[in-house]
Amino acid sequence: MSFYAAPVARLIEEFEKLPGVGHKTAQRLAFHVLNLTDQKAEKLANAIMEAKLKTRYCSICSNLTDTDPCSICTGASREPSVICIVEDPRDVVAMERTREFKGVYHVLHGAISPMEGIGPEDIKIKELLSRVKDGSIKEVILATNPNIEGEATAMYISRLLKPLGIKTTRIAHGIPVGGDLEYADEVTLAKALEGRREI
Ligand SMILES: [Zn+2]
Repeated sequence: MSFYAAPVARLIEEFEKLPGVGHKTAQRLAFHVLNLTDQKAEKLANAIMEAKLKTRYCSICSNLTDTDPCSICTGASREPSVICIVEDPRDVVAMERTREFKGVYHVLHGAISPMEGIGPEDIKIKELLSRVKDGSIKEVILATNPNIEGEATAMYISRLLKPLGIKTTRIAHGIPVGGDLEYADEVTLAKALEGRREI
């Protein structure tokens, strides 16, 4: 039996389904919503629906967008012959924040993970291959995550691309800025050493 009025219990239940939200937080969020003015609550509900209905995947790079193709794929200042491959749309945001990358992206929407039953056909590798086959791509940068799945995915893609004569690079991994060598784990430290460059 719920101690709350049915609509409130339902709202709590929905919040609880969100990632990282436990029962206590769900309760707090629900009560926050109940304390909002009708106008503010409507704004919140509309923002959820609008984000959901007006965004889709870019037909070229599979990034989330409200225009197709997305603003990066059609950007006049972008270099379309350099593709950076990432696992998730959030990784595009992270890369864009650096303001260092002027190429375009390809979002895989996942990584190969035999443990979770995710194979190459479950992520957007097919789409990548059809994108690179016209021969206009100069470089593919593999920026998948530095974990087992990300490494396996990068390796798999590089094996597909190398025979096509496409320069394939992997982002360097190492010690985070502000980090301390003493606290770095051995894999990170080994990767940092491996990716060293002349200064
Ligand atoms: Zn795009």
